[in-house]
Amino acid sequence: NSSVSPETVRTTCAYCGVGCGVLATREESGAIGIKGDPMHPANFGRLCSKGSALGETVDLEGRLLEPRIGGKPASWDTALDLVASSFAETISEHGPDSVAFYVSGQLLTEDYYVANKLMKGFIGSANIDTNSRLCMSSSVAGHRRAFGSDTVPGTYEDLELADLILLTGSNLAWCHPVLYQRIAAAKAKRPAMRVVLIDPRRTMTSDIADMHLAIKSDGDAALFIGLLGYIAAQAMVDRTYVDRYTSGFEQALAIASSHDLRSISARTGISPEQLREFFNLFTQTERVVTVYSQGVNQSAGGTDKVNAIINCHLATGRIGRPGMGPFSVTGQPNAMGGREVGGLANMLAAHMHIEDEGHRDLVQTFWNSPTIASRPGLKAVDLFNAVRTGKIKALWIMATNPVDSMPEADLVVKALQECPFVVVSDINSVNDTTIHAHVLLPAAGWGEKDGTVTNSERRISRQRPFLPLPGKARPDWWIITQVARRLGFAEAFPYETPAQIFAEHAALSGHGNRGSRDFDISAHSAISDVEYDDLSPFQWPQGRGEAALERRFFSQGEFYTPDQRARFIPVNPVNEEAADPRFAFTLNTGRVRDHWHTMTRTGKSARLSAHFAEPFAEINPLDAAVHGIADASLVKLGNDHGTIIVRALLTDRQARGRIFVPMHWNGQFAGDARVDKLVSANVDPISGQPALKMARVAMKPF
Ligand code: SF4
Repeated sequence: NSSVSPETVRTTCAYCGVGCGVLATREESGAIGIKGDPMHPANFGRLCSKGSALGETVDLEGRLLEPRIGGKPASWDTALDLVASSFAETISEHGPDSVAFYVSGQLLTEDYYVANKLMKGFIGSANIDTNSRLCMSSSVAGHRRAFGSDTVPGTYEDLELADLILLTGSNLAWCHPVLYQRIAAAKAKRPAMRVVLIDPRRTMTSDIADMHLAIKSDGDAALFIGLLGYIAAQAMVDRTYVDRYTSGFEQALAIASSHDLRSISARTGISPEQLREFFNLFTQTERVVTVYSQGVNQSAGGTDKVNAIINCHLATGRIGRPGMGPFSVTGQPNAMGGREVGGLANMLAAHMHIEDEGHRDLVQTFWNSPTIASRPGLKAVDLFNAVRTGKIKALWIMATNPVDSMPEADLVVKALQECPFVVVSDINSVNDTTIHAHVLLPAAGWGEKDGTVTNSERRISRQRPFLPLPGKARPDWWIITQVARRLGFAEAFPYETPAQIFAEHAALSGHGNRGSRDFDISAHSAISDVEYDDLSPFQWPQGRGEAALERRFFSQGEFYTPDQRARFIPVNPVNEEAADPRFAFTLNTGRVRDHWHTMTRTGKSARLSAHFAEPFAEINPLDAAVHGIADASLVKLGNDHGTIIVRALLTDRQARGRIFVPMHWNGQFAGDARVDKLVSANVDPISGQPALKMARVAMKPF
C-alpha cells in the first residue's frame, strides 16, 4: 500500500488542508515525478498547480544542512546540549512560564504530539502555540461553544451532495483548488446545484458562483444573524431538531429578530433585494453546506461569525446529514492534526480541555508526567508580546516564519532581537526568522519526513519519505525527543520511530474516553511499524479495519456538551474598525493560487512564480484614478506600523475603498514587502486569532 512500485511512494501534499494524496516517483534522471493518487479519497487523482510542482521544490539550494550556533556549524550533541541547558536554566531561574514553543501546522502529527507533551506535561507550562492560531482558531472556539467539542462534522462528499453551497470568506478556487474542482465537477453533472460566493472581492471562485454577495469586510456575522431571523420569520425552523437536540434558540433568535432587512443591508452592504433572494435560496433548499475559511476566521469577531453560521444550520436541522452542514476548511496541511494533539495554548491533548480538571488528570496519568499545565498558555500575539517585554526568555520556533506572518510583524522582529535565547528549527538556512536564531537546527523537509497529517474532513493520511535525509537534517520529533531526554525525561520520551509516537497518541485518544469525547483513534494504539507504514487514509472515528465511515456526527444530536445538546450562541454583528481619515483604505490580505505561505518552497519553482512574479496590490481603477496611480506602477501603502511598496494591479474585481495584497512575499524575495507588518495585532477576544483581513492604510504613488 505504501509504495506503488519500488520507485513510487504514496504520500500526501505538503500544502493546504485539502490533504491530497500524491504519488512521488524518483526518476532515473534524479527528477521527482509527481502525480495525484487516484486512490486517495480527498482528491481521487486530482492535484492543483502547487501540488503538481512539488517535485520542483525539493532541491537542496538554501537548505540548512547542519546545526549552527551563533551562525557557526556545530555538532548535534553540542547544539542539543545548549538548547536543553539554556531552557533548563531559564526554567529553574524564572519558572516554566518563562519559556515557550511556537510551532506550526506544517509539523506532522507525531512532531506536534511530542512538542505538546514536553511543554504541557514535563516543562509544566501551556506556552506552546502555533501558526494555526492565525488560521483556524476561531473555528475551534466556535465549534467548542456550539458542540462542546472541536468537531468538524462535514466530509468532502457533502460538497458533491449539496444542492446549495455557500462559500463564505473563502477563495476556494485558489486556496483549496481541488475542493473547488470537485464542486465544479459536481455542478457540471447537476446544473441545478447552486453556489453563492460571499466575499468583498469578486475572486476567481466567482466563476462557479450563481450569486456573488459583495459583502463589506466583517459583514458575515450580520448576514447570518439576518438569515436566522428570516428563517424564523418564514416559519422554516426545524422545531423537532431544535427542541430535541439544542438549547438557547430563543436567546439567539431574540437578537436576530431585532435586526430588520434594512439594518442587515446597512451592515453588510448588500441590497435588501439581494438579501431576500439569498435568504429565500437558503430557506428553500434542504441540502446546504456552508464552507468557510479565513475571511470568517481571521477577524476580531471570528468566533461569533462561526457561531452565526452554525446557528443557521442548527435552526434548520441541516447538520450531520448528507449534503448539509457548516464546514470549516483549514489552510494548512496539518492544522487538524495539531488540534488532535492539543497543540494550541488553550487545548490539552486528544481533544481534551485544559480547564477541565478531570481531563488534566487523565492526561497526566497517561503520560505519568511530573506535572500538567493547569491553565491556558499565551496565544500567538500575546506570546510574542511576552517575548518582547522579557516575560518569556527562551523561545523555540519550529517550521514557521513569524517575522513574515504575524500581525505587526516588526514587533516580532523586535521581540526576537531582544530575547535572550532563540532556537529555530527549519529546513532553510536563511529566512526572515532564522536570521534571529541563536541556535539553528536543521529539520527534515517534505519528501524526507515520515508521519501523519489530518485534512479538513478529519482524514488521517501518511506522509512518507522518498528522499534520504540531507546532511545532518533530522525529523522534528527526533530533535524534540533529544532535548526532552537531556532535560531528564528520557523514560517518557523513548521514541525511536514515528509509529511509536502515533501509537501512543492513538492510545491517549481512547484513555478514559468511553464515548465522552469525539476524537478516538484508539483502535490504532497497538499499531506496528509495518502496519503504520501501510496505513491507508482513514477518517476518524472510523476504526481500524472497519469499512469506510458510515456514522456521521450529530445527525441524532449527541453533542459533547454536558446535556448533549448543541448550543445556539446569541451573536451581535461585528462592528467595523473605526474609520481613521488618515488611512482611507481597508486592506485585506490573503493567498494567490501558486504560492504557499512565505514562499520558502514554492518560490523555488519558476513555473509557480510565473503566475505572479512580484508582490502586488489589487486596487479598484476608480480609486487608482483619484490617487493618480497607473496600472503596473509602483504604489506605497502605509500606516502607523510601517510601509510597503508593491505593484498596482487595477481591477474592478476589487470594490472601491478596499485593497488586497497577498501575504507571501518576504525579505528574501521582494525587498521588504511583508504586508502583515501593516496589520494591527487586533485579535478575536475568544479565540485570540488576529484580524488579518482588516487593516487601514493610506495609498499613494511611489
Ligand atoms: Fe496540495 Fe491543496 Fe493543491 Fe491538494 S489542493 S494539491 S493539498 S495544495
